Amino acid sequence: MRNNHQTKNLNKKKIQTLDKRNMASINWQFSGSEDAKDASAATLGSYTSRIMAKCNPTPEKPILPPLGEAPETSHTAEKAVVKAVLMGTGNAYAPSIGLPAAKSAVAEYLSRDLPTKLTADDVFMTVGCKQAIALSVFITATPNSNILLPKPGFPWDMVQAIYKNVEVRQYEFLRDNDYEIDFDSVRDLVDENTSAILIINPHNPNGNTYSEAHLMELAVLARELQIMVISDEVFRWTVFGDNPHVPMGKFSSIVPVISLGSLSKGWSVPGWRTGWIALHDLDGVLKSTKITTALKQFLAIDSKPPTVIQAAVPTILKDTPKEFFERRKTFLREKSDIAFNKLKRIPALTCYKKTEACTFLWTELNLSMFSDIDDDEEFCERLASEENLVLLPGIAFGLQNWARHSIDMETSELKDAFKRLKRFCHRNSKAPELEDPLESDDDVE
Ligand SMILES: *Cc1c(COP(=O)(O)O)cnc(C)c1O
Repeated sequence: MRNNHQTKNLNKKKIQTLDKRNMASINWQFSGSEDAKDASAATLGSYTSRIMAKCNPTPEKPILPPLGEAPETSHTAEKAVVKAVLMGTGNAYAPSIGLPAAKSAVAEYLSRDLPTKLTADDVFMTVGCKQAIALSVFITATPNSNILLPKPGFPWDMVQAIYKNVEVRQYEFLRDNDYEIDFDSVRDLVDENTSAILIINPHNPNGNTYSEAHLMELAVLARELQIMVISDEVFRWTVFGDNPHVPMGKFSSIVPVISLGSLSKGWSVPGWRTGWIALHDLDGVLKSTKITTALKQFLAIDSKPPTVIQAAVPTILKDTPKEFFERRKTFLREKSDIAFNKLKRIPALTCYKKTEACTFLWTELNLSMFSDIDDDEEFCERLASEENLVLLPGIAFGLQNWARHSIDMETSELKDAFKRLKRFCHRNSKAPELEDPLESDDDVE
């Protein structure tokens, strides 16, 4: 046995025989993969960080919307997680398809609004709705297949399609008809290689929710076109307009439906990373076409939501009081009213529909009114740098020269945000003398 001293000497010798090159001058055999380069450039995060980098916050003019401030979640949800931690019910690995108790609880919850009930076998737990979106793109991706995605839309489906080299075809909306889906555009895009149409309902960023009749029409059309419907319903708990939310699963006797959801938006806990994907497969079509098998295979090789949150899901879904959601809806309804009215007095931005769901307003930019702003990205970057106000450019959602405003902040902050926006538009306008923003800056809603 060598003693410590001998080992040290030996190591010293080895080091002395090393060449004297700096490590940086060695021609290493590895380099970073670029496989996620294009897909990552399409994420909302990449746009957000570029715009945030332009901000220069001061105590008098902090960044809006305020950073890192999530609205409060329900105590029921908090307690359920604490209990899971204390009882140790979520310490072990969960099965790749999800914890059985969580699967049944989601099935039961979703079935409340469905004519045909789901069972635990129809539900799979995912890392937030994002993984559910990614999985729905993956399981329908076959050689040469294409998928119909919304334009505009929350871009995670696009990100995953780029990553998987799936051809994307973007359907459009009828702006003057409550942002309903333009079924003619859907018809024009579909060919024999189209697998699915993905909808977002309630829609981020359009801010609407589809009527029962419209969803029924979609189901009938998808059946005729022989494609399935994937429905991202992550915002179903923040519907505060006159239209109630109708789940797409209601029409699964017409067409196979996959619905996606998560705790993130409804409970204001996106950091908990827990969601689901539900297969509404009345006639066994998703089974016979091997979609179900593909889903299980992808889940087997992918990451899982934290077991400790899954263990809390049954209590969260069953016991969160209605008042928690009502309070949130009241809060957002008020913000939507204020923001919509403020926008009416900023002629360079047009909002065609007052948000009735979600936490944003979606507006078209009239760039011809500005002296020196060429597109939506430049608009958002300049706004961030001059006013520390962060709007996201439409291009991030697939539609150039639009912008998405958050309304999810306190009334005083929201009013401050619109004051800054108005000043910015005035300052950069071609004809600033036409309007004095300060004069019309009163608080009339
Ligand atoms: C925020 C959001 C998601 C992501 O949900 P997570 O549960 O946080 O992964 C998915 N779809 C839409 C439309 C969203 O707005």
